[in-house]
Amino acid sequence: MRSKAMKGFNYFQPTEICFGSGRLSEVGAAVSRWGKRCLLVSVPEFPEFSSLYKRVKDLLKARGVDVAHFDGVIPNPTTAVVTAGAVMAKEHRADVVLGLGGGSSMDAAKAIAVEATHPGTAWDYLFFREKQPTARTLPVVTVTTTSGTGSQVTQVAVVTNLAEKNKSALYNSILYPKISIVDPELVRTAPPSVTASTGFDVFAHAFESYINPAGSYYTDLMALEAIRLVSLYLPRAVADGSDLEARSRMAWADTLAGLCIANSGVTLPHGIGMAMGGLYPHVAHGRALAAVYPAMMRFSYQAAEPEFAAAGRILDPSLQPLSDSEAARRSGEAVDRFLKDINLWTRLEDLGIPEGEVRRLAEASLILPDYRNHPRVADVDEVFDLLNKSFCDEPENKRK
Ligand code: NAD
Repeated sequence: MRSKAMKGFNYFQPTEICFGSGRLSEVGAAVSRWGKRCLLVSVPEFPEFSSLYKRVKDLLKARGVDVAHFDGVIPNPTTAVVTAGAVMAKEHRADVVLGLGGGSSMDAAKAIAVEATHPGTAWDYLFFREKQPTARTLPVVTVTTTSGTGSQVTQVAVVTNLAEKNKSALYNSILYPKISIVDPELVRTAPPSVTASTGFDVFAHAFESYINPAGSYYTDLMALEAIRLVSLYLPRAVADGSDLEARSRMAWADTLAGLCIANSGVTLPHGIGMAMGGLYPHVAHGRALAAVYPAMMRFSYQAAEPEFAAAGRILDPSLQPLSDSEAARRSGEAVDRFLKDINLWTRLEDLGIPEGEVRRLAEASLILPDYRNHPRVADVDEVFDLLNKSFCDEPENKRK
């Protein structure tokens, strides 16, 4: 684990964050600072979003911005979605891209900004490739409508390739949004299931940054505060989506956790979640994480007892008087209870993952490098075991 001595670190964050209720009104001013021909990127219109889309277009037009609307994003956006958006960006001669929605819309906006300005497709510019996005990338502005991915402050764009059954990411500083509007009022329409699964992603980002050897004293501060806010306000936001206080605290937790992962990265659960998204694109990202967290906590806690204990004590204050090793041992139970409280207790079988494919999922979970930063580095057999423990409740009884 991280040395207790003060170790050096870098911290980088170029995105201008406009945080607060009502800040959507500034979207026209924000976008017009970066361009006059905008591609608006979102999911297709649905009742909760129709007035939002109209308002955003009106605000853009009022600032003299010429808007084309690409509304073809789907959750876990695919390479085909990105290509369709990039074609539209080129036809419109867009000079700025506005991602409006959850992580799927914001990430699609970033990938479109690359594909519209570079040869080939966005998939050719994944984080490990020699070819990387250049300064030609269109500037991106985001307006987030979920409290989940932190994409509004990260250099990451997650894309799914259906043909390759692979979910991977572009990762480059050029992808940091120029300006991000985080207006908690926009999250109020998110239904309880979306609130819970995206909100658990916030917890996962903060926790994985906190246990990550690449973390720093700076990201630790933000991570612990994000975990505290999630533990207090996510159950409230799930119970009553119109609770603006809870939505605001969650929007801030989401932003803090995004700032953490942009600088520290994630660990094993996100590697598994990404593999699951590639093989089973219908699975919501936060739900994939929820399915594996209970077994992951039990697999890992001994490798980072002070950090597991600290998170466990935030989720369950009754662990406060216990020693680090005892609180860490019981941190898995605290996560179980929290998942049940927010109605997100999930097993792999609930996600439609065939039992015969668990080994394949284990192998795919070790493709991205994130697992190497987990405090206990797992091999494929250990991930297979962890996934089996996550497959259904009381697996031994059920499988007889
Ligand atoms: P999402 O954007 O896929 O949205 C989930 C669903 O909620 C969609 O159907 C969407 O239309 C709906 N929705 C969104 N906001 C709503 C609102 N206010 N009211 C009603 N419905 C609403 O979900 P997400 O979890 O925000 O994003 C997931 C994607 O982000 C995944 O592809 C994931 O891998 C990626 N991700 C990216 C990063 C990053 O740093 N770029 C980090 C983590 C995850």
